[in-house]
Amino acid sequence: MEQFRADGLRGELRQHEPLSGHTSWRVGGPARVFYRPADRDDLANFLAGLPADEPLLWLGLGSNVLIGDAGFAGTVIQTQGCLSALERRDGNLVYAEAGTSCAKLARFAARHDLTGVEFLAGIPGTMGGALAMNAGAWGGETWERVLRVHTIDRHGRIRERGAEDFAPAYREVKGPAGEWFLDVELALEPGDGAAAMVSIRELLDRRALSQPIGLPSCGSVFRNPPDDFAARLIESQGLKGYRIGGAQVSEKHANFIINTGNATAADIAGLIDHVRDQVEDRTGIRLHTEVKRIAGDFS
Ligand SMILES: Cc1cc2nc3c(=O)[nH]c(=O)nc-3n(C[C@H](O)[C@H](O)[C@H](O)COP(=O)(O)OP(=O)(O)OC[C@H]3O[C@@H](n4cnc5c(N)ncnc54)[C@H](O)[C@@H]3O)c2cc1C
Repeated sequence: MEQFRADGLRGELRQHEPLSGHTSWRVGGPARVFYRPADRDDLANFLAGLPADEPLLWLGLGSNVLIGDAGFAGTVIQTQGCLSALERRDGNLVYAEAGTSCAKLARFAARHDLTGVEFLAGIPGTMGGALAMNAGAWGGETWERVLRVHTIDRHGRIRERGAEDFAPAYREVKGPAGEWFLDVELALEPGDGAAAMVSIRELLDRRALSQPIGLPSCGSVFRNPPDDFAARLIESQGLKGYRIGGAQVSEKHANFIINTGNATAADIAGLIDHVRDQVEDRTGIRLHTEVKRIAGDFS
């Protein structure tokens, strides 16, 4: 591929890769280039060889993104299944590379009698995505536990940064521009691993009761507005079950939109807009999406 100058790449490079296979909504057109690095050095080498103006998209498990049917006219870097080192370190620390799954990390911590990240067990994403989104559940949030991270920029330069370099908020974090997460060190509490495993199972059971687990979705579509719940507002407008094409507001949880089988990204985007407009027209409250809309013809 002539636009890439890097020699000796060891990762997996695909062209025109359908992103529907890499998102939990199962929608999204092709990425012009799709790269799965072999390791961090390979990733740094790959990035250093990219044209300076190449659009870049980082993808973990794709559980919080809506990628348009037109796809992504740039390069997608996928960390899931690649950057997945996970280890316990002295001082009750757990080190994880960005592609490590949150669920794996939660169980790993419990097996090492470390507590404080049980909530991650129910989040179907990677640690890179959890850092980018400040993912949280049941009162816990990712950045509460972060000690330090390594980031990488588009030239392949790696930096160590402390938690103080970032300003986490509800489902977002502000930090140095143009840097992506390579890994994280989490400071946990020593505790009872068996009890942590019990908590994990209870949290997963509660989730299964209240959420349409197993159907393609991206979890909560909208952020909760201050002092209220997006699901309550959507349900109060009778929108549960409302459909556009193959996209449907879940009957089980009104803040979930599910792909019933043949939804397009445009169906989902149309339904998001419809729900937001209906809620705003009738309650005066404008909902904001938690899910990230990426490129495409609907953004
Ligand atoms: C059934 C279901 C339940 C869910 N429940 C919850 C929940 O309880 N709480 C919650 O917070 N979320 C929840 N989510 C949403 C989602 O799982 C989280 O936001 C998760 O953290 C996203 O991780 P990911 O790896 O899939 O990220 P992706 O969806 O791949 O990416 C999300 C964003 O992070 C960016 N990103 C990814 N990797 C990196 C990186 N290494 N460096 C910098 N940026 C990066 C992407 O570019 C994108 O902007 C749920 C989703 C589903 C499908």
